[in-house]
Amino acid sequence: MKSWEQNIRKVEPYVPGEQPQEQNIIKLNTNENPYPPSPGVYEVQKSIDVNRFALYPDPSAGKLVRKLEQYYGLEEGQVFVGVGSDDVLSMAFLTFFNSDKPILFPDITYSFYPVWADVYRIPYECPPLDENFHIRPEDYKRENGGVVIANPNAPTSIGMGLQEIEEIIKANQDVIVIVDEAYVDFGGETALPLLEKYENLLVIRTYSKSRSLAGMRIGFAMGNKRLIRAMMDVKESINSYTMTQESIEIGAASLEDEDYFQENLQKVIATRQRCKSELEKRGFFVLDSRTNFLFARHETVSGEILFEELRKKKIYVRHFGGERIKEYLRITIGTDEQMNQFLCAIDEIIESL
Ligand code: PMP
Repeated sequence: MKSWEQNIRKVEPYVPGEQPQEQNIIKLNTNENPYPPSPGVYEVQKSIDVNRFALYPDPSAGKLVRKLEQYYGLEEGQVFVGVGSDDVLSMAFLTFFNSDKPILFPDITYSFYPVWADVYRIPYECPPLDENFHIRPEDYKRENGGVVIANPNAPTSIGMGLQEIEEIIKANQDVIVIVDEAYVDFGGETALPLLEKYENLLVIRTYSKSRSLAGMRIGFAMGNKRLIRAMMDVKESINSYTMTQESIEIGAASLEDEDYFQENLQKVIATRQRCKSELEKRGFFVLDSRTNFLFARHETVSGEILFEELRKKKIYVRHFGGERIKEYLRITIGTDEQMNQFLCAIDEIIESL
């Protein structure tokens, strides 16, 4: 092996859900929102001046950052924005997890966490979820280099109460606790009220799910000013211009139309609840979801067979291989029409076996 080959950073990358290019598919595999972004986003899009593409965007993304600070009632300097929450999470790992002690996150959670830990050479340990797929706060009360909790968790869809989250933050005041709230708008409990109380808390959110803007790549972190400043320093040591001017403008506009936003969330939640009971009637065990997806297994048919058969019918859901979850499907909530077609397909598959 040549020495340059030995010097290549070897990592096993995260594998995102498929983005099939064929037409006429029902795409329930990457937790996107089935409804369009808010009307204000269309207005911004119409006013885009292509000549402006010749210029660099505002490196501080000031317009978006100020809007987010106002929206969440925070002070100036408490928000960091990035190219989707993946970018923000990655920056947070790089900024805060530099000790020799292992960081902690659950054995079943967002599968990007171990990938960032590996690429940045951060040691980690994964306390197992309990038999009902719940996070046990007591598992996070040992020495560590930091903690990451997705709340609600993915792919389980289960939400954790504020008291339990506080228990974890309180027990870990010497390290940073990241709470990844990618799905919280769909019925989870946010840790935001704890920001005033704990300076070791960083809450991370995304526009990809509840704001129907996965394609624009907008994510953000909220925390005390020192944490945000530290993340800015790292970001500015890597790439000054992470957000395009269009994503800055669109992200700011999306916060304007609160009624539209809330209506959209309620539609997804109503469809989720209907779909959960329809699946239960069909012999599925469905976890209690606080997200825009369901995590479900059938009493007799294997997860892999259901996944493959649905795919043959051009319905894409997500299936993970891990031992504890291989019988489950993760099903993104689509429109009512899409979910009806999904349920019909499930009926056909079960009948045909
Ligand atoms: N956190 C969790 C728990 C997720 O499921 C996802 C979506 N894959 C993300 C973060 C990242 O989302 P995005 O980069 O689109 O903001």
